Amino acid sequence: MTRDQVFEFFRRLAEANPSPTTELESTNPYQLLVAVVLSAQATDASVNIATKPLFEQIRTPKQMIALGEERLRDAIKTIGLFNTKAKNVIALSHALIDDHGGEVPRTREELQALPGVGRKTANVVLNTAFGEETFAVDTHVFRVCNRTGLAPGKTVDEVEAKLEKIVPQPFRRDAHHWLILHGRYICKARLPECWRCPVIDLCRYKPKTPPPEERAKPTAARSGRPKWSKARTATGRTAAKRSGGRSRARPNRLP
Ligand code: SF4
Repeated sequence: MTRDQVFEFFRRLAEANPSPTTELESTNPYQLLVAVVLSAQATDASVNIATKPLFEQIRTPKQMIALGEERLRDAIKTIGLFNTKAKNVIALSHALIDDHGGEVPRTREELQALPGVGRKTANVVLNTAFGEETFAVDTHVFRVCNRTGLAPGKTVDEVEAKLEKIVPQPFRRDAHHWLILHGRYICKARLPECWRCPVIDLCRYKPKTPPPEERAKPTAARSGRPKWSKARTATGRTAAKRSGGRSRARPNRLP
């Protein structure tokens, strides 16, 4: 994608969702850190179900240690890999108290030194808790970046490095939220919902998925340019018109 196309890509995602954030529920950086550790290979929804009652009682590392590994394990037993995750949460709570005065550190190095905390978790915490311009690459971000041609790469590190390089202001802080949500709800893994995608004309993925009513028709009935590719958006403009010859449009929202 060209620089103008990248800008337009994020401008449209921002237009559709001006205030994106993580779907993991928490009330402070410590709870967010725990929630992100628990979310590895699990859905945010499943983590929220387990953490809702847990976080009503546990807001600090000290309280988590007082709860203990066994009761924590029981509280999160509906989440995959709960044994290992309970061990890590107790260990990282000890580390926060011993080395950081009970606070969540604000540097990537310090975060990644905590048990169970990898680069992606550190990026989410730095971005969501502390407003840093980091690019956490999860399975959704990796897929969207490769499919669309936005930031193709063979590894998550490669994709993250490309995002670092190409994402313009004022979209850098919220870019990873937009990409996650786009991947989770529109550019889905098994069947991307291209017919309702706001960046359809900027995306290089082929073939685009037609709307359900078009897919239900026999193949012979589908010929020529599909009418749905000109489907109007909520703003009343077609995807093609929205990008035609436009350079840098002003975003709706500044961070
Ligand atoms: S057009 Fe389809 S493949 Fe491309 S970003 Fe949109 S949903 Fe994903």
